[in-house]
Amino acid sequence: MHRIPKNHPRYISLRIRQRMVLGLARGLAAPEGLLAHGRGEAFDYLLGEMTQPEAKRAIRAAAAALLLAERPVISVNGNAASLVPEDLVALARAIPKAVIEVNLFHRTEGRIKKIARELETFSRGKVRILGPGANARLPGLGSQRAKTFRDGMLFADVVLVPLEDGDRAEALKRAKKKVIAIDLNPMSRTARSSDITIVDNIVRAMPLLASEAKKLQNASPSRLKKIITGFDNASNLKRALRRMQGKLPGSRF
Ligand code: ATP
Repeated sequence: MHRIPKNHPRYISLRIRQRMVLGLARGLAAPEGLLAHGRGEAFDYLLGEMTQPEAKRAIRAAAAALLLAERPVISVNGNAASLVPEDLVALARAIPKAVIEVNLFHRTEGRIKKIARELETFSRGKVRILGPGANARLPGLGSQRAKTFRDGMLFADVVLVPLEDGDRAEALKRAKKKVIAIDLNPMSRTARSSDITIVDNIVRAMPLLASEAKKLQNASPSRLKKIITGFDNASNLKRALRRMQGKLPGSRF
């Protein structure tokens, strides 16, 4: 793979792209995933490619919600598996009741198997990973995309959907789940329909979320509840959007 000089002004962004390209070559990501990543990059540019205070607040609320959940599920798609497989497993290990479920927009059993295997190389049996063999359907989605697990998303109470498409996020909301999203676009349907939206690059947000969950692991339920009730997603999203608008030339923000 082409070597990027460390002093290149876009070094980090280009290295992340390489991870996506490698994920595609290894059969983890779909070609469409590269385009979705490009949409994310544009918003990251407006964020200054940094985790902003709004994301930090959402990360704290997300960690509290996952720790309080009875049946938390971490949904993983091809882009997430290409970019942050180790951090996804670290997060699941920090949430004692969490399971990981592989869920793809462009679903093939072959890719599901590859992603589950990739996650397993980091988990080594320590985290429950639901990959192939779906045994349930999530109402309100097309036939392939509805596939899920009874002990996964179907009966989950809290679902983390990093890089999800709006259809699934909305279907999960209709099924009365608490939805946590990681999405660089504060205007997407996913961002707007979720209960907690972390507007940040998954590459930065996921390690922070895992370490926040570790920090809060022994917090009392009442402390966790207080963190969640003190968080307002709609106003947090507004602030994130205003921050991006402020980056535009001639902006009044
Ligand atoms: P929606 O269906 O929710 O309205 P969309 O159609 O724009 O949104 P997709 O194209 O399905 O969404 O998925 C891409 C989404 O993922 C975009 O909103 C993009 O901002 C976000 N995204 C892409 N890469 C990343 C990343 N590395 N970190 C965080 N978010 C990302």
